[in-house]
Amino acid sequence: MNVVEKLRNVNLRPTKQRILLAKQILDGKNKHFTAETIQKEVLSNGQSISLATIYNCLNKFVSVGLLKQIDQQGEVTIFDTNVSHHHHFLNQNTGELIDIDPDEIGFSKLPDIPNGFESDGVEVLIKIKE
Ligand SMILES: [Zn+2]
Repeated sequence: MNVVEKLRNVNLRPTKQRILLAKQILDGKNKHFTAETIQKEVLSNGQSISLATIYNCLNKFVSVGLLKQIDQQGEVTIFDTNVSHHHHFLNQNTGELIDIDPDEIGFSKLPDIPNGFESDGVEVLIKIKE
């Protein structure tokens, strides 16, 4: 499936900017990235795109399930092309995320969900350092 079809499949109009980013991001490999790293890649290919446009597109991709946003404390938002349920190691020396298969983690005890809320999933972030 080419990127235009991928966008049409989720009812996103294949605009020039979305196609540019989708080509960069949705190449079938699992990867984690920030809007800033994507901008650098686009610039190094001799094209230009504003950070605001990148955030707009990435947020749209998240809302239709093409990407996942990893919730993190701090300034940086990391996006993930692996949209299936999984966990992460966070390398604190480099900021790199490494996928963990959900089968590799089990829970024996979880707290009750506060009244009026429902669980939206459990994601584990294991911090590692050298
Ligand atoms: Zn991941």
